[in-house]
Amino acid sequence: MSQFVEKQSYSFTDFIGSIEGFEERYQTDISSFKYFGFPVEPILEIEQSLISGQKVSAAYFSMEFGIAPSIYNSFEISRPMSENNQFFAHEVFSNYWLCDYLFKLQINKMLDIPIYGGGLGVLAGDAMKSSADLGYSTAGVGILWNKGYFKQKFWYKHGQVPDELKWDPLTYPGLIPLKNIVTIETKEGTIHLRLWKYYVFSYDKSRACPIILLDSNLEANSPMFQKLTDQLYRSDDVWWKVLQRVILGIGGMKALKSLGYHIGRYHLNEGHAAFALVEDFICREADGQSNEGKAKFTYTCHTPVAAGHDRFSIRDIGRFLSAEYVNAAVRLGKESPESDQINLTFMCLNNCPQVNAVAQKHGEITRLQFPAFKDKIQSITNGVHLHTWLSEPFQVLFDKFESVFGDWRAHPENLAKAADLKRDQAFRREIVEAHRSNKSNLIYILKRWQLSNEHLTIGWARRIAGYKRPALLFHKVDRLLEIAKTIGPLQIILAGKAHPNDDIGAAHIEEILDHIDQLNAHKNVIKVLILENYDTYFGKLLTNSVDVWLNNPLPPFEASGTSGMKAILNGVVQLSTLDGWVVEAADGDIGWIFGYRHEGAEIGHEMHLRLDEDSEALYNVLGDVSRLYYQTYQKGGVTLDSPWIDKMINCVAKSAFFNTQRMMQEYNARMWRLNV
Ligand SMILES: *Cc1c(COP(=O)(O)O)cnc(C)c1O
Repeated sequence: MSQFVEKQSYSFTDFIGSIEGFEERYQTDISSFKYFGFPVEPILEIEQSLISGQKVSAAYFSMEFGIAPSIYNSFEISRPMSENNQFFAHEVFSNYWLCDYLFKLQINKMLDIPIYGGGLGVLAGDAMKSSADLGYSTAGVGILWNKGYFKQKFWYKHGQVPDELKWDPLTYPGLIPLKNIVTIETKEGTIHLRLWKYYVFSYDKSRACPIILLDSNLEANSPMFQKLTDQLYRSDDVWWKVLQRVILGIGGMKALKSLGYHIGRYHLNEGHAAFALVEDFICREADGQSNEGKAKFTYTCHTPVAAGHDRFSIRDIGRFLSAEYVNAAVRLGKESPESDQINLTFMCLNNCPQVNAVAQKHGEITRLQFPAFKDKIQSITNGVHLHTWLSEPFQVLFDKFESVFGDWRAHPENLAKAADLKRDQAFRREIVEAHRSNKSNLIYILKRWQLSNEHLTIGWARRIAGYKRPALLFHKVDRLLEIAKTIGPLQIILAGKAHPNDDIGAAHIEEILDHIDQLNAHKNVIKVLILENYDTYFGKLLTNSVDVWLNNPLPPFEASGTSGMKAILNGVVQLSTLDGWVVEAADGDIGWIFGYRHEGAEIGHEMHLRLDEDSEALYNVLGDVSRLYYQTYQKGGVTLDSPWIDKMINCVAKSAFFNTQRMMQEYNARMWRLNV
């Protein structure tokens, strides 16, 4: 660290000097002006900023980061890349069997850097990108998952079968191993962790933020320790769960130190990173500065139900960590005086002066669950990164109306001006055209399955979890069929992964596959497809191209949800229960709201899914949706004054708020205070 202070500035020589194996591997892709096709200057600037401590810097800890390089800011690589990083043939399971048997979906794209599992990670990636857009001095801290989350296979009559995912970090564009190794002492020996970096660039490539990734796959480690950073959220044993969290929290703090970064704020994205507080506590004790550092921690709580929070017995933590660490963990995170449990959520709530829930409604629920902390729990509603999730036809559209939207790239809030264009016939025509272009792209990609551009197309894609009610639309298949037969044909596209150990999730997938199978006889009026391996590529494709985005979680269990935000940005109307972010947007007539509404101080039970009543409500409203759709789009033409198009425009106007730029500005104004 001191060497840089003396030299005043971080140079290109410093940068390449930090890379492990630069001469052998990276010389062709990293030069004094290019980093995998991107400019180097922003990298030197952010490193300088993080090291010098001239500005207040933040470290954003997260178990997962969804960066989505296949759809945004893709790096170039001149060396041959491992096949495993490039191709992924997706199988499709549909109700017209022959196609599935004959074809796969071959998409020539880069594999997502597989270090995320779902929305939490995508949010972390989007937060880093908006940090770069805003010029915040921020470093991400996460884990290099050597086998990703998992690869999903659908087996007929069997549901989801998890498979091992293989990828090659050494030929993944934009990812570099560093010489830095940090160590953690455990009762089972030393864990050695290699540090890697991945830079996230701003949309105009003028600024960047590093994400530091920890990796235990080193020869210096025992064979078991080598596997610790293989699979995200391995949960078969407390050994994996505790040590993966120890790596993120304790290893992450050590990594920042090893890089010589001066960090003024530590942000914990979910309780997984809570051990960072333990490490900080121990360092402060060692330095004799008892309490002052505490003010530096902030925490985002995502989990809506108490059962979802990580807790470990003191004895289990004592199996792995020294008495000094166990005592610190007890002091910071013991659930109650008489308990023998360390609760990571409690640890964060208790020790971070600033805490946020991820939507207004989620703030209410979190305060109900943790009344002791109700005064410090604020709500900062999630968002999505505009430049990642906005489709090209909509970029062109906003540019065409530049006199209204101004510099919307730098100011996503300008999209609210769409409301002024409601009566503008040209804008109404253009938004319909932009949507059509997205929809035909989807239908082209799925061409083997012969979908129609004219038919009402509904999308549902997300992590398969009980409270999200993945099979609600099929709860009474006859009702669905009746709508398709009497009002107009339906096309339904689904995707989603269940955690490999989640038997209930797997059962949901099996149920969906069964329903799809049974609809074979009705494929002339209803086509249903489920795509394997939902990822950010499909997330973007589906959210921007279907006519209606279906969101049917059981209120109040969806903390926020973000896929609908990607949809409204692209003028895709919502068919949703009233939960998460939707509560804050519903007054804007962005589609249709249906089903159970949560009120009052009782949270209710996650297992009481209300499938009968809410599917009934869904079918009733779907009838209205379908009627309006087929009135709006008739025989290839479109009725421009249809309320459907009003709703599309309302969606765009509402998206002005639901972006990570606004979210990061709120993090900064209300929690981080970086004085940028
Ligand atoms: C956006 C996204 C999510 C989050 O969707 P929710 O609506 O919050 O469930 C999950 N996975 C992927 C791949 C995404 O792109």
